[in-house]
Amino acid sequence: MTFLEPLSFDIIIIGGGAAGFFTAINAAEMAPEARICILERGKDVLNKVRISGGGRCNVTHAEFLPKELTKNYPRGEKELRGPFHNFMTGDTIEWFEKRGVPLKIEEDGRMFPVSNSSETIIDLFLEESKRLKIEVLLKRAVQGLQQKNELWEIATSQETFTAKKLLVATGSNPKVWSLLQELGHTIVPGVPSLFTFNITDSRIKELPGVATNALVKLKRTKLETFGPLLITHWGMSGPSILKLSAWGARELSDKKNFEIEVNWLPETSSEEVEEELMRLKKENAKQSPHKYAQFNLPKRLWQSLVSASGIEVESRWADLNKQQLEELEQQLTHGIFQVHGKSTFKEEFVTAGGVELKEVNFKTFESKICPNLFLAGEVLNIDAITGGFNFQNAWTGGFLAAKAMTNSAV
Ligand SMILES: Cc1cc2nc3c(=O)[nH]c(=O)nc-3n(C[C@H](O)[C@H](O)[C@H](O)COP(=O)(O)OP(=O)(O)OC[C@H]3O[C@@H](n4cnc5c(N)ncnc54)[C@H](O)[C@@H]3O)c2cc1C
Repeated sequence: MTFLEPLSFDIIIIGGGAAGFFTAINAAEMAPEARICILERGKDVLNKVRISGGGRCNVTHAEFLPKELTKNYPRGEKELRGPFHNFMTGDTIEWFEKRGVPLKIEEDGRMFPVSNSSETIIDLFLEESKRLKIEVLLKRAVQGLQQKNELWEIATSQETFTAKKLLVATGSNPKVWSLLQELGHTIVPGVPSLFTFNITDSRIKELPGVATNALVKLKRTKLETFGPLLITHWGMSGPSILKLSAWGARELSDKKNFEIEVNWLPETSSEEVEEELMRLKKENAKQSPHKYAQFNLPKRLWQSLVSASGIEVESRWADLNKQQLEELEQQLTHGIFQVHGKSTFKEEFVTAGGVELKEVNFKTFESKICPNLFLAGEVLNIDAITGGFNFQNAWTGGFLAAKAMTNSAV
């Protein structure tokens, strides 16, 4: 910073979160002469990184094909394809490893620092910022943005700053979205994504903790997801439900009550289910259907679905009439459940909504509306399912924005 212009910088980054720090550090490395500053409204930075992944920070995901990776983004799938060809998961792993923070892969593909602590990521970001002489100014809530004579004027709760290039990385902050709207951007309204379903139903009431693969459909839409389904004390959770909540975020935003259809046998065709039930009726004639679980279903779930089909414990397979067999098949493959409300998933909420993606150049993450304005992270209308993908969006956008800002700034 020079003595005469204490409040002017080459690059100002608004928001001291994941995307803000990643951009600042990369920009400072790419252009060591550039004066770079992060303006953060809070008393502290990187708060979401601290609590992320249950305090372990799920940094990224072990998926190394750009096209496959984009499939985890209900909003942003098309737009992130190009950026991921330039900076994605493998680059993230290398980036952290090169700076002394190795990552490890868990069975489900999620990647965490080997230390198992988000503090390792925070310490790295803070040390790098210090080493690279990035100014980090706290308690600077940005309240106004305007472009004057090729310079950005940024009004905060304390002072006004100027910058040649501006990156907005304020996450899902409604105040900043309205500032961007005043600059001419369209904002897709924010709605929650990633939630679990509240269901009161005798079929699952006694089964909290039971998990199995299922195909879940949102009735009256084309949305369906496949994956583990976990029965909870309040309803249903697990990857299949979370994915449905993310893809259905907009459809479900104004609905408290809706219907889902659960296929508990997603890997077995209707014909196979029918044939197997007929075989059981014949070959297990003297046995109660309640006694042994079939189709590899968890026993308590099987018993509950058998009861829901009106089959008594005393009944034997041979006693079942056509209607009971059909009802059992229906329960196994087309179970309808009424959802009455949503709950957040382990506090990990993500907001769908933000700056309209058509208004952003995804080679550089620069606004197509305002030159020298860049956007990265959750401020954009991009969000992902749980698994490390939301941070990957922040890293990719931050890296490419840093490259673009430094190529032309200094
Ligand atoms: C509990 C929880 C756990 C999560 N765990 C994971 C995980 O393990 N893996 C994963 O990939 N994703 C996870 N996510 C999602 C992930 O945290 C976000 O997608 C990510 O933090 C977005 O980064 P960002 O930099 O865009 O925004 P943020 O991290 O939200 O940072 C925005 C920053 O801008 C500041 N700011 C806002 N307004 C202003 C203003 N007017 N002036 C100045 N500063 C301002 C904020 O104070 C904040 O510091 C989790 C989310 C939550 C809530």
